[in-house]
Amino acid sequence: MAVVELREVHKRYGKTAAVDGVSLGLREGEFFTLLGPSGCGKTTTLRLVAGFEAPDRGEVWIGKERVDRLPPERRPIGMVFQNYALFPNMTVFGNVAFPLRLKRLPEGEVRRKVGALLEMVHLSGLEDRYPKELSGGQQQRVALARALAREPKVLLLDEPLSALDAKIREELRGELKRLQREVGLTTLYVTHDQEEALALSDRIAVMREGKVEQLGTPKEVYEAP
Ligand code: ADP
Ligand code: ADP
Repeated sequence: MAVVELREVHKRYGKTAAVDGVSLGLREGEFFTLLGPSGCGKTTTLRLVAGFEAPDRGEVWIGKERVDRLPPERRPIGMVFQNYALFPNMTVFGNVAFPLRLKRLPEGEVRRKVGALLEMVHLSGLEDRYPKELSGGQQQRVALARALAREPKVLLLDEPLSALDAKIREELRGELKRLQREVGLTTLYVTHDQEEALALSDRIAVMREGKVEQLGTPKEVYEAP
């Protein structure tokens, strides 16, 4: 059974059909990428899976739940955006602890979990820094740890490497792949970068003008006529 399923999903903004009849199923543990040029509907698709937007028509399921019918705190997703979106007035510790404190975990448990998460993204020792005291790559690792803290069924990544310079992008790309393998987390990834998609993905959906134009493994998509 698919972990995430979109069934004939449509979403318009005024006259623009941002998502125009998309059906997709993500398998447990797979790294699934939406690839395509700017404006083809990738982010809208991701926001529909996140439940930030409701479809005009069609359905979005995560497991046995329709995501747009769940209150935000019960949506089993963690999301990382291009521009980090960390809380600037909270330390690294505070940022990663935030979703755990929302769940009212005991403080000892919070400390233990934050410690493990920071170790996972190789940021141990930087607990007391503020976001502005970190590099872009480090900030993105914090964002990733914060997303993982929710123990999501699905990790949603919207161009998470785009704002970084080439060397850090490369490094974090390897890190993402390692994490996804280790945790076995179903991941929906958005990028306009073909090379990135080929390097990371189990399967790729190539989007164009709100539709899925091609779908398959990197090999299948890349070698398609
Ligand atoms: P991508 O992520 O592939 O760049 P988007 O999903 O962001 O594409 O956008 C798809 C289309 O929908 C674009 O034409 C975009 O301008 C339009 N769009 C997206 N969000 C909004 C919005 N909130 N209001 C109006 N138009 C939007
Ligand atoms: P709003 O609808 O309040 O303007 P958003 O559409 O950005 O805000 O987010 C809707 C809800 O999704 C938020 O109330 C929050 O609980 C949740 N949310 C926001 N960011 C994330 C994230 N990075 N990971 C998981 N859930 C998030």
